[in-house]
Amino acid sequence: MGEYLVRCLGCGRVHPPRALACQNDGSLLRTEYSSKMLTLRSDLPGLWKFYDWLPVKEPLHGSGSAPVTYRSEGLARGLGLENLWISFSGYWPERGAEMTTCSFKDLEAPPTVERMMEAEDGRVLVVASAGNTARAFARAASFVDLPLILVVPKGGLHRLWIDGDLSDTVMVVSVNGDYTDAIDLAGRLEAHPRFVGEGGARNVARRDGMGVVVLDAALSMEALPEHYFQAIGSGTGGIAAWEASLRLIGDGRFGSRLPKLHLAQNVPCAPVYAAWRGSGLEMGRCPEGMYDDVLYNRKPPYAVRGGVREALEETGGVVYGVTNQEAEEAQTIFEESEDIDILPAAAVAVAALLRAARSGAVGKGDLTLLNITGGGVSRAKEELQMTYLKCDIEAGPEALTSESGSASYDGLLVEIDEILGRRG
Ligand SMILES: *Cc1c(COP(=O)(O)O)cnc(C)c1O
Repeated sequence: MGEYLVRCLGCGRVHPPRALACQNDGSLLRTEYSSKMLTLRSDLPGLWKFYDWLPVKEPLHGSGSAPVTYRSEGLARGLGLENLWISFSGYWPERGAEMTTCSFKDLEAPPTVERMMEAEDGRVLVVASAGNTARAFARAASFVDLPLILVVPKGGLHRLWIDGDLSDTVMVVSVNGDYTDAIDLAGRLEAHPRFVGEGGARNVARRDGMGVVVLDAALSMEALPEHYFQAIGSGTGGIAAWEASLRLIGDGRFGSRLPKLHLAQNVPCAPVYAAWRGSGLEMGRCPEGMYDDVLYNRKPPYAVRGGVREALEETGGVVYGVTNQEAEEAQTIFEESEDIDILPAAAVAVAALLRAARSGAVGKGDLTLLNITGGGVSRAKEELQMTYLKCDIEAGPEALTSESGSASYDGLLVEIDEILGRRG
């Protein structure tokens, strides 16, 4: 149970289970589970029910809620679709959705944190995020007191809250800059042997965690969907949906056709959309003015073997460039017809579905899955006791530009060490 290999999609060589890239050719690695048929582990909570297809030895204590898949009535009626299903990742207790950090980053963080615990190598996890990812990792790490450094742009601090207690092993470094500066600083910290990055799309635990959306949906729908809609930044969720679908085809009970990926980005900050169309990219002031800046990613894993382009090619997929106005309209339509608040990122996926339904690209009877990647924040904030994270260290511009070995960068390391030492 839970046994797997990690294999390179380029050269085919088997790698150590925690490797993040092929040493030969840089391709993505993919897990191959020894169980080819999905056996639901009903004795385990939340997403751990899919244990057989998660790269962990055991469930992580205290975290790992599953998404909820249900058949849409309101939105489906509005769009004239007869077979529309919604996967909801967020907080919506009436439907059984209990992701209290309110996004599907709650599917990625628990398996990733569990693998960090299993590695027992004493290294400190570093995560750069402007919001949803930071919340999900802060919560998962808090339950097990895993040392974690969140690198956050100063302007994103207000989005850092979790329900319940925050462990003092979680440290926040705020960067006096934008998300890109936070990623750069996290990258510099990760290069240090005491720290380790989580690897983003390259981390099989993140992808297989997100793949649970399609696994849960296929069980509810009793088949693979024909269409899969999701808003993307990096596109990791799109790759994960493709990979989970391949596994379900291998299982044999869910059909043999890959779902067509309908991936949506927010224009003009849309590098995957631009690459897919073969058009130029004008991302001048991005992510400023985006409908939701969690969809901003400067370097998506597009052309790499096993990446977003291959997922689109293999599934006959398409990419949408959604404007803020379309997203806003879609958000209103969704919230009025389904009766739950959603994150703006998720509205970008709804906008793509509106377009596809109106144009006939999705037929009336087509089995369609809409991934609502985040929602229920208003509900969660009303009902739960939220703890806001505080900044522990402010990294000024010197820490971003100075060489490693220079006083300001080393000063930052000393400060981090002091705090980690004090908190044990
Ligand atoms: C991160 C995120 C996305 C985009 O996910 P990808 O990693 O690009 O697949 C979409 N919606 C929400 C709410 C997110 O937090």
